[in-house]
Formats: sequence, structure tokens, C-alpha cells
Amino acid sequence: MTGHLTPPELHELSDGCLAYVQPDGSWGWSNAGLVVGDGASLLVDTLFDLRLTAKMLEALTPYTRSAPIRSLVNTHANGDHCYGNQLVNGAEIIASTAAAHEMTEVPPAMLAALTKAPGEVGDLFRGFFGAFHFEGIEMKFPTRTFDGRLDIEVGGRLVELIEVGPAHTKGDVIAYVPDARTVFTGDVLFIGGTPIVWAGPLTNWIAACDLMLGMDIETVVPGHGPVTDKNGIVQVRDYLSFVQSAAVARQASGMDAFDAAREIASEIGATGSSFAAWGEAGRISVNVETVYRSIDATHQSPDVVEQFRRMALLERG
Ligand SMILES: [Zn+2]
Repeated sequence: MTGHLTPPELHELSDGCLAYVQPDGSWGWSNAGLVVGDGASLLVDTLFDLRLTAKMLEALTPYTRSAPIRSLVNTHANGDHCYGNQLVNGAEIIASTAAAHEMTEVPPAMLAALTKAPGEVGDLFRGFFGAFHFEGIEMKFPTRTFDGRLDIEVGGRLVELIEVGPAHTKGDVIAYVPDARTVFTGDVLFIGGTPIVWAGPLTNWIAACDLMLGMDIETVVPGHGPVTDKNGIVQVRDYLSFVQSAAVARQASGMDAFDAAREIASEIGATGSSFAAWGEAGRISVNVETVYRSIDATHQSPDVVEQFRRMALLERG
């Protein structure tokens, strides 16, 4: 984990849109965004802990002083996109109904406990999340939920919220700013890192990529990794399509899901494709589990501790 060694970057995009990017985009090092309107602005996501979120809000002050944050959108339920909500005052908090429900499932106290646990489980979770501080977080939940689509007006500007999940999680949402030809994608895009498909099906995520590829956009702010454009979307789509067909074929042949993940991982390494060099390659084990469940509803995936154990195993090689 190197993210905490590299300072965050604030990028001024076109037309009053900003991206707050936390290198290196690996586990927990998420991005956020700001859309600045006339006298009001909209924040896309908070960060994994209070310290990181406070630092971000301070960096945004030159923009929010005259245009306070009136709306906060949580793109999905993962803590690295909503655990900092309590530091945003005076804003409505918007999420999809499915994401708002999922936020109740992994309270910050659970991550605090896992990263403090003694022995192997604690070591495992400290390896993934040891750089973050989960103490003192009081989860502030969405105050406004929607299904499908919701148009928001932010200081005279239109922001279109589009639910594209279940994909990465149960209720993924993207935020599209038509007048800036910009989309904030949340974790429907990981750039330079391997996507992780917790909910799926992968076909929904591929459809989300196709939706974005059909939109009038120039600038794409992913949930993790550097700001990109439509080329970044194509790469994620290519990875997901590859994994979908590779896992479907192995499920049909009766192969165990973790064996399939190992095989597909080495196949990816041999393809020379753009995604062969991505970080967090161990996420393939979760992704294959998700494909197996989408084909066979009776398929039982291992619990979350075992899922992390398998990812760590695969990345150790
Ligand atoms: Zn994330």
C-alpha cells in the first residue's frame, strides 16, 4: 500500500468541475468530485475516514466558500465513498435506495474491529486497510433516495444521477454533468487497478460501460485512479467481458470457482492486454465468484474474510 505516501491531487477540470484524486487508487484510496454552480455546489462522495475527508474539504474551500456544498451524492455504499459524510454539514445526502440500504451492512465499527483484530485476520485486514482510521466515525446516512434516475439542480446547473447498479455494489450511481461533458463514475470505473465486482452481474457493469460510451462526454472521473476519458471506459469493459466469458466457460466445465480464478489470473498475465499490468489482480477471485452466482443462484460464495484471504493469496503469487 503506497497511497498514503503520495499526496492527494486537486484537478480543475473544465467548467467548474473538480476531481480530488488520491493516488495510487488502490484499496481505500478513492476519488471525489465537486460541481460548482452559482452559489451552491455538489460533492460527489466523501472519503474513507474523517482525517482524509477533512483534508479534502479544506482543499475545496476556495471553491465552496462562495458556493457551499448543498448536495452530497454517495455513488455507492462502500466506506471509501461515504464514511466521511458526517463532516459535510447543511447538505442533503443523495444515494440510490439500494445503496442507502447497503450502507447499513458494513458499519465503520466493523472495519475498526477487523483492522484491530489479533492474529491472522487482523494482519489480513491491516494489510488492506491499515492506513485508515475508522474510530469515531458516526455514519451519516442519505436523506434523499431514488431509483433509476434523478435530475439535480446545483446553483443553476443540471447534474443527472443515473443508477447503473447492481454492478460493483448493489446500488451504483454515476453523476453526469451535461454542460461540462463530464461524468463522475464512482467505482463503476477503476483506472490502473482491477475492478472488483461485489454485486454483479458483470453484464450489468458492461451495460453501464456501454451507456457511458454512448454519452456526450469528454472527461471521466473514476472512483479510483487518474482522470481519464472514453478510452478508460473501454479498457474496463474489455476486462469485464474477458472475465465474464472465461468464467462462464469454466463454470460450464464444472471447475471450482477459485481454481477458475487462478487459471484466469495466469491467462490474463499471458495475454499482454492492458489490464495485465493493473494492480489488485487478486480481485479476480471475487469477480469469478460473482459470475458463478449469476449463472447458478444456488452457488455459495465464501464469507468476506475468506474472499480477502483469497485475494491476498493470489497477489502473493
Ligand atoms: Zn471505492
